[in-house]
Amino acid sequence: MQTQHFDAIVIGAGLGGLLSAAQLLERGKRVVILERLPHCGGRFTAKTFQGAQISTGAVHMLPFGSSGVLSRVLQRLRIPHRIFDADVFGSFHVRGQQIRSRGVLGVFKVFGPRQFFWFTRVGYLLFFKRLPEAERALPFDTWLARHINVGRNPELVAFFASISRFALSLELHQVTTEEVMRTTKHMFRFGAPGILQGGCGALTSELERRVLDQGADLRLRADVLQILHTDGQATGVRVRDKASGEETLLHAPLVVSDIGPRATEALLQNQQIKQAEVLKQQSQEHVTREPEQRKQPEAIGLKVHILSDVSLIPHKGIMYCLDTQRIGGMVQPTNADPRLAPAGKHLLISHQVIQSENIEEEKALALADLRMLFGETFEQHCRVLTMSAYRGEWPVNRLAQGTDVATSTDLRGLYQVGDAVKPAGYLMVEGVAQSVNQFLDLLDARDTGQTGGSRQRQPRNVVSPPSRLNALRWLWEAPGNS
Ligand code: FAD
Repeated sequence: MQTQHFDAIVIGAGLGGLLSAAQLLERGKRVVILERLPHCGGRFTAKTFQGAQISTGAVHMLPFGSSGVLSRVLQRLRIPHRIFDADVFGSFHVRGQQIRSRGVLGVFKVFGPRQFFWFTRVGYLLFFKRLPEAERALPFDTWLARHINVGRNPELVAFFASISRFALSLELHQVTTEEVMRTTKHMFRFGAPGILQGGCGALTSELERRVLDQGADLRLRADVLQILHTDGQATGVRVRDKASGEETLLHAPLVVSDIGPRATEALLQNQQIKQAEVLKQQSQEHVTREPEQRKQPEAIGLKVHILSDVSLIPHKGIMYCLDTQRIGGMVQPTNADPRLAPAGKHLLISHQVIQSENIEEEKALALADLRMLFGETFEQHCRVLTMSAYRGEWPVNRLAQGTDVATSTDLRGLYQVGDAVKPAGYLMVEGVAQSVNQFLDLLDARDTGQTGGSRQRQPRNVVSPPSRLNALRWLWEAPGNS
């Protein structure tokens, strides 16, 4: 078997893998990136279908927009990109109509005076008072029920449920109160969510170009079969070229895994994870356990791409759905970049949490919601392009918000990045970018001989949230760039 040597091996060319590789290359390392698919980007790229940018995962949106962690990392790396921040706090589909709310105070129109009072009370308890230790681990629905009369505030509960479904792909009983508090604080402090110019595919192409320009050895259709290790130290990988079937041993003192803890653990045991097996095992667990009791609770969802002749969402932000059966929220990314769809058409994307094993039923419920939301217009002017379930080894998040694993592993030289390593309070790709920053801080500390303790340097790569005062900008309008 052929053997080759590098300074670092990156397993997986998703966003986490590409960002890690770009930064290792900046540090002068010889890097090989191994990706089993014929393209880079993982769940953060897109294919053109009927003239529209159909993403492999993300809805072309960065949760913290142009002031977020990913944007800051891209600026640091000088990767060309443009983000169109939301121009509203959101719109809310409730009681059969869409109500637009420029800033947080605009939700008064959604709730009316009584529920608005309880909304401000919840805000006060979460953000202005210290959350008691005993309440931090409570599922958020339980916490809400302790502080408000759930029966008398149905739209307030639906407000939190729809945001959680869209932003976290979780039901309220699947997320802790502490995690809700942290993610919301970060959302308000960093800024409004934003749509990427050119969508996810454009960013992935830029990152791919960058790592190639920097001299990375990028191998597509390269399936990593095993992580090699000796005496507690990672030493390399065994990889198969899917085109030729040829296997190669690659050696490096540093291995970065962007494929999640389950698949990483399997490679350490010289085994590979198969999607069908994961789904079968989860289906058995589904019968016996609640999602939050599962060993590795991921966030699962169903996404629908729709092409419409008429505009259905009148802004660049998220429409949260409070009166639907399944859909948590929708975006119309062509409001930010019309080139994401053919000229004159509008691309819409809906997202929902998968709540049962029956995917066909989940799809039917999505369609029923779309008919309810847009009535005749949906039948006459809209075409469903794709409906895709994200679960198993291709989920919305490999680990649900708040259950993530650490960057370093039991093996020296083996680090994990990606959406299973997102730190508390950092959503989706903001969490992926922050996971890479954490890895770099660990690496820099290791390379300079700093292994912890009080003399440890300030982290150089992890991005800190901006001042709390930034949150105040949200009261009247969304703090965007446009
Ligand atoms: P991945 O993108 O999964 O990359 C891992 C890569 O490793 C893959 O390319 C895979 O093929 C490869 N790989 C796996 N095993 C091997 C192996 N053995 N050998 C070689 N290669 C291997 N985030 C947002 O910020 N905004 C959004 O709007 C948003 N919406 C979403 C909507 C949906 C429906 C989904 C599914 C996700 C969404 N996300 C969103 C989440 C976001 O897409 C992910 O968090 C992010 O793309 C994960 O990146 P990653 O690098 O961690 O993993």
